[in-house]
Amino acid sequence: MIQTVPAMRHTDEHYDVVVVGGGIMGVATAYNLAKTGVSVAVFEKGRVGGEQSSRAWGAVRQQERAPAELPLMIESIRLWAVLEAELGESLDWRQQGHLALVYDEKTSEEFEKWIPIGRAHGLDTRMLTGEEVRKLLPHYRDSECRGGLFTSSDGCAEPEKVAVAFAGAARRRNAKIFEFTSVASIETENGRACALWTERGRVKANAIVVAAGAWTSRLLKPLEIEHPSLWIRGSVARTGVLPINLRKLVPWGKTAYRQRSDGRVNIAVARAGIHDLGKESLRFGAKFLPTARHNCRNLRFCLGSHAIRDLMGEFDDFTTHRTLDPRPDWKRLEKTAALFSQEYPEAGPIRLERGWAGFMDFMPDELPVMGEIPGFRGLFIAAGFSGAGFGMGPVVGRIMADLVSANDTGHDLRHFSPTRFSKSRG
Ligand SMILES: Cc1cc2nc3c(=O)[nH]c(=O)nc-3n(C[C@H](O)[C@H](O)[C@H](O)COP(=O)(O)OP(=O)(O)OC[C@H]3O[C@@H](n4cnc5c(N)ncnc54)[C@H](O)[C@@H]3O)c2cc1C
Repeated sequence: MIQTVPAMRHTDEHYDVVVVGGGIMGVATAYNLAKTGVSVAVFEKGRVGGEQSSRAWGAVRQQERAPAELPLMIESIRLWAVLEAELGESLDWRQQGHLALVYDEKTSEEFEKWIPIGRAHGLDTRMLTGEEVRKLLPHYRDSECRGGLFTSSDGCAEPEKVAVAFAGAARRRNAKIFEFTSVASIETENGRACALWTERGRVKANAIVVAAGAWTSRLLKPLEIEHPSLWIRGSVARTGVLPINLRKLVPWGKTAYRQRSDGRVNIAVARAGIHDLGKESLRFGAKFLPTARHNCRNLRFCLGSHAIRDLMGEFDDFTTHRTLDPRPDWKRLEKTAALFSQEYPEAGPIRLERGWAGFMDFMPDELPVMGEIPGFRGLFIAAGFSGAGFGMGPVVGRIMADLVSANDTGHDLRHFSPTRFSKSRG
């Protein structure tokens, strides 16, 4: 199947590998390929890291991961520990642990169930008592807390820095990174991906990696490849400098928060998101019913201007939104700040200096999609990270580079198969 965009021109450009999308997954893949001497180019419709990858809250956690993801996350933590040295940039990486606080019996039971999963993979995850929590967090004052689930090897980093650092390191190893250059379509011939149609023109490649985040299903649709992901809007706010010390832990209590190195705290609306209804909801909604039922307390649906804009085709074209910049859920963020105050009264009045939101690309089983697409030789996908991909970025880059190079990845990737939702599985 050949799709062409008539107004565009051919170029003589040819790369071993081209990557669509300059989020953490795309640039980490390009970096790992460039390290091996492969010629690689990344095409990014806006700025590197502009969408999800810079908007994340910054948690890098193994704790509470699905069993299929855990081996990858464990390797990712090892890669994070040396990443600043490897990329030659500060990423504000801190490995002080992840702590999920317990306020009710149900959460406590869920956490207890997860501990053996972590242990089976060699993690030191354990339940802390309320007293132990208060020792770890000296300014924490919520008397309702019963304890917490703690994994000391988890960490956090600054999302605004990481994709940019990967891109810089990739460039230094001769990768080409084209910003503000969208990819309109993928060309295939005889069952093989062979070129991209970009704003620069046609670019040939031996292999193509689609790491287009929230846009992946739209890019793959003309090839009739079903990638049922839905956009979930997550919101984060940043406080002013607070006179408390969270000891660089990543706590997840009534809200989720992470103190930055400058003393400001990123507060996120924890375990909750909004789905702005649109065309993809109609296309894929049925596949999400079990997840929606399971998460009904945490998920809200919004029928508003997004739906109209989507129906009018605003999100069909990759140049209309160079960087998706959805409206933060200020109402919930203000509530979140009030919950934070209950836990940390000594922080004083919380002023939110700025807030932002991002569309996370969720899959029906909340697991990512990684692999070569059956029936399309040389076409690979790394997308659908379901709101938890920032921490996985380093290992995904390593794995995708090995997949493209036909090396053993060292991981069982069957749970992440690109065709697991198709009627005719490849
Ligand atoms: C509010 C929020 C909080 C989060 N918090 C965390 C957290 O604490 N920890 C965690 O692990 N994860 C977190 N996540 C999830 C994490 O950010 C994502 O899973 C991860 O960044 C996904 O990376 P990506 O490279 O797949 O996607 P993206 O970063 O979205 O990158 C995809 C890129 O592809 C580009 N693109 C798309 N289509 C085209 C095209 N046709 N041509 C050219 N370029 C194209 C886009 O412009 C975009 O830059 C959070 C996400 C959000 C939104």
